[in-house]
Amino acid sequence: MTKIEIPLDTPDIEIENVEINKKGDIIITARSTVKGTHCHKCGRKITKLHCHDREITLRHLSILGRKVYIRIRPARYQCTHCSGNPTTTQKLLWYELRSPHTIAYEEHVLRELVGSTVSDVCIKEDLGYEAVRGIIQRHIKTEVEWSEIERLDVIGIDEISLKKGHKDFVTVVTARTDGRIIILAVLNGRKKSTVKAFLASIPKRLKKTILALCSDLYEGYINAAKEVFGANVIIVVDRFHIAKLYRNGLDELRKEELKRLKKELSKEKYKKLKGTMWILRKEIEGLTVEDLEVLKWLFKCSPILELAYKLCNELTDIFEGDYSKSEAKRKINHWKKRVIKSGLCCFNRFLSTLDKWMDGITNYFINRQTSGFVEGFNNKIKVIKRRCYGILNVKHLFQRIHLDLEGYSLFA
Ligand SMILES: [Zn+2]
Repeated sequence: MTKIEIPLDTPDIEIENVEINKKGDIIITARSTVKGTHCHKCGRKITKLHCHDREITLRHLSILGRKVYIRIRPARYQCTHCSGNPTTTQKLLWYELRSPHTIAYEEHVLRELVGSTVSDVCIKEDLGYEAVRGIIQRHIKTEVEWSEIERLDVIGIDEISLKKGHKDFVTVVTARTDGRIIILAVLNGRKKSTVKAFLASIPKRLKKTILALCSDLYEGYINAAKEVFGANVIIVVDRFHIAKLYRNGLDELRKEELKRLKKELSKEKYKKLKGTMWILRKEIEGLTVEDLEVLKWLFKCSPILELAYKLCNELTDIFEGDYSKSEAKRKINHWKKRVIKSGLCCFNRFLSTLDKWMDGITNYFINRQTSGFVEGFNNKIKVIKRRCYGILNVKHLFQRIHLDLEGYSLFA
């Protein structure tokens, strides 16, 4: 058999034996080369060997696809200073007490968890659920450490539904600063009082660094923010939530129209309308030639759907445009007038939302470039939402989101 030598990268040990067991796992028996430890009572350095503890087995990084275990018998030292001469077990730097893995291995598992799920990592690593949870618990904090944060810039408040049927909401509070997203909290429910209490708990030093707050279109959130920050912070209703609302209006009209067309058109002609839901949701630049053919046919059968589609895109264009807040307000009001004149009712609900939140919606146009809207953030939240589905413990959720956002930089 061809053999290679590789360094083990675990300091302070000497290898006594290496063997491969029946399962093909590599078992390394090692011995500490460090003499002495610190007394757990007085903290003094002690070197009087008392005995060796029972052997512990620690999972280490795999080698060539084989599981690796390090076996070691920790030395126990006795203190000659403290009364009763208590003993202390020596612990080496590359593992933690009560962990069945080396730190290098635990960090590997944490990297595997980024963008993945606990159960998936369990399968890949052949670990139990509790073992993986234990690793998360040992390395990932369950709430924000304010002292590690320099500035907040833009606060984001989003809601996540943890179960089907939009029950069991949690509120996710993030900071978006320097193109980075930091998780600040995962709060139970979406009550105004809970959100308000959290926002109020932000240290004064950091409150001063908030430029804007970007929120889901939800009255409780917006009012909580208003009450805590007053006029000091610009409150922006998230434009992607707005887009979803007017797009929903279009979608409802599409459903109605397709229902009508199903009755009126021959089976063959109706068949040509397949996939319209996705096509209408796509960005125009992403449409294929085939998509455009379907759209052309759809709009020929339903001119009002074409009108609604165009109005939707015009509103998106306003949000994409480089306008001041007052210009944007004017443009949106003009858009609104055209919707009313068109006689379309599918945007009715959206129009009343617009009336109510016009100010927050158009706050988006203030310093949109500098307010640090992180590109791709909404997608990230969407992915997290999908994957966190079923995690009902807010502390666990905080850990998972934190790990997703920071995992690679923490455990690179
Ligand atoms: Zn002592």
